[in-house]
Amino acid sequence: MLAVAIDRSRPSELLEYRTRPTPSTSEGVVEALCDLAREVELDGCLGVGLAGLVADGEVLRAAPNLQCMIDVAVRSLLVEELGCSVAIDNDATCALVAEMTVGVAQGINDVALVTLGTGIGGGVAIGGTVRRGAHGFAGEPGHMCVNPNGPRCVCGRNGCWERYASGAGLVWLAQQRNVNTDHNGHVVTGETLATMARAGDAHALAVWAEFADWLALGLTNLADVLDPELFVIGGGLVESADLYIDRTRERFVESVLGGRARTRTRIEPALSGPSAGAIGAALLN
Ligand SMILES: [Zn+2]
Repeated sequence: MLAVAIDRSRPSELLEYRTRPTPSTSEGVVEALCDLAREVELDGCLGVGLAGLVADGEVLRAAPNLQCMIDVAVRSLLVEELGCSVAIDNDATCALVAEMTVGVAQGINDVALVTLGTGIGGGVAIGGTVRRGAHGFAGEPGHMCVNPNGPRCVCGRNGCWERYASGAGLVWLAQQRNVNTDHNGHVVTGETLATMARAGDAHALAVWAEFADWLALGLTNLADVLDPELFVIGGGLVESADLYIDRTRERFVESVLGGRARTRTRIEPALSGPSAGAIGAALLN
């Protein structure tokens, strides 16, 4: 969990920054949200970005790493406890709000943001407006099927995009190549794979190359539907963007319909990095 405090007039300057592990129960999560709000000396209004399908202040379907929050009326509980105005939205949609307000997507009308974390989240703006869809669930590209014969996903289907192009997907790709441990014998993670690749480990570099190919495939599918001017890459894996973004751009241009004629489509890392979701949540109110 990440909490920031901002001044609305200068949202990119973080006045407070706190992190803590996500508790495993809904009571624990709500309590931690309240504690964090108090720690950052909340004065005015609170915005919360949560993974999963969020509508009317409730998490109607949680992401795999937040299963305990399904059907929890988070907003009512926070209003009751904190007595302030509370706005809640999907965390990737929040990240999009931040990037459109103070980030790399300022002044751009058609933009798609994907957050690469444990899974893949997304946010979409069309014609300058953030779109949430008929049920508030628009922009969940992680569960686009990219391989019907692929590995089982937590959503119950097979071969979803996030089984390949997320943090969990990256580790899975490494395991398929028998890259299971780093040079110290520790089980590989996104971070250790980044360290190995930067040290020139050929196996780790091959994993990141394959990761870039899967990322480009999903962006290509999204471009076929949305034709955005800009893709923003957010989430924890944005810190390793140097290891995959160039190849992702190349693969995207090679495979997207219209190819090099679609010269305006850029793929850029989020300017606020992994803090984009928290900044955007704070801007919701
Ligand atoms: Zn899925």
